[in-house]
Amino acid sequence: MIRDVDVAVIGGGSAGLSAAITAARSGARVMLLERHGFLGGMGTASLVHTFCGLYLLKSGPGAELANPGFPSEMAERMIAATGIGPVRMGRVDVLPQHPAEFVRIADDLVKAEPSLSVQWHTEVIGLRKCDGRWEIDWACRGTLGKTLCTALVDASGDAVTAEWIGGLCDVAPRLQRPAYVFGIQGVGSFPDEARLAMAGALVEGVRSGALAKAALGLSFRASGRSGELFGTLDLAGGESESVYDPLDPVGLSALEAEGRRVASSVVNHLRKADRGWSSAFISQWPARAGIRESRRWVGRACLTGAQIEA
Ligand SMILES: Cc1cc2nc3c(=O)[nH]c(=O)nc-3n(C[C@H](O)[C@H](O)[C@H](O)COP(=O)(O)OP(=O)(O)OC[C@H]3O[C@@H](n4cnc5c(N)ncnc54)[C@H](O)[C@@H]3O)c2cc1C
Repeated sequence: MIRDVDVAVIGGGSAGLSAAITAARSGARVMLLERHGFLGGMGTASLVHTFCGLYLLKSGPGAELANPGFPSEMAERMIAATGIGPVRMGRVDVLPQHPAEFVRIADDLVKAEPSLSVQWHTEVIGLRKCDGRWEIDWACRGTLGKTLCTALVDASGDAVTAEWIGGLCDVAPRLQRPAYVFGIQGVGSFPDEARLAMAGALVEGVRSGALAKAALGLSFRASGRSGELFGTLDLAGGESESVYDPLDPVGLSALEAEGRRVASSVVNHLRKADRGWSSAFISQWPARAGIRESRRWVGRACLTGAQIEA
């Protein structure tokens, strides 16, 4: 199976979605290849539930969008869907987002672009240059196929293309911790002050021996939907610990299982302690842990205005 397009985008997270939609709107025939069965990347598959970077850094009041165009459109669509506007955290304005709405908004955006095709459940597995064009190998539910394209966007978040074309890439020696974000339902009201009380409850649980020390890496945030929270568990392995390898499939699988174990033990503990949690249950696991950093390109490339126009 061979498909031929102007632009191929690998990965349908925030970056890939923006690239694919804007390329299609400028008239290109675009193919977006995504491993999961929905778009949004870590904002959906890993349940990361806030957008940073949409607003200017300000010390005064009021959030001001940093960029017109697609980022502003995305912010407007998300605010319309959730009814929640930007929230000030220190000097940063952050937009809470709901992964379920992100998936739906991405579907709507794709549907509106006839020159954009999306292939879900498609893992890109190789890449080469042939006669001045890119040839991408992919696998989709046991079918192997190719996409030919003139322009290629690597929005995998893992710099996958660097690996295949021998580009200079590395993994930073000190990495931010990975995190495991999960959904909880059945919690009574959860105002912001409750976050501190929950942190106290976790410390108590660890001190009493009811919870493992890893529970201290867990924090909660209301999703904006009635009775629903997100729990974010910072997993061990990052920063000073050299054992964590974000590209090691066995190590990552163990981290994810550990995330589920700790999350379950904490929710069970809080349910017994009540504090408005007697009916709480874990309603959603992420499709994958949140990996903040992995393989990255090394070097510097400056895109000129002329290249963009060409
Ligand atoms: C725990 C955590 C908390 C965070 N908190 C925030 C926050 O509060 N606010 C904020 O703005 N940002 C936050 N971030 C960062 C934010 O999630 C990322 O900046 C953002 O997701 C990057 O988007 P992306 O499109 O570049 O990559 P990703 O979101 O990683 O998307 C990459 C996509 O490519 C796909 N893909 C990868 N390889 C292949 C392949 N070979 N074939 C096909 N598809 C492939 C993946 O399935 C994925 O959908 C956080 C990240 C983590 C991990």
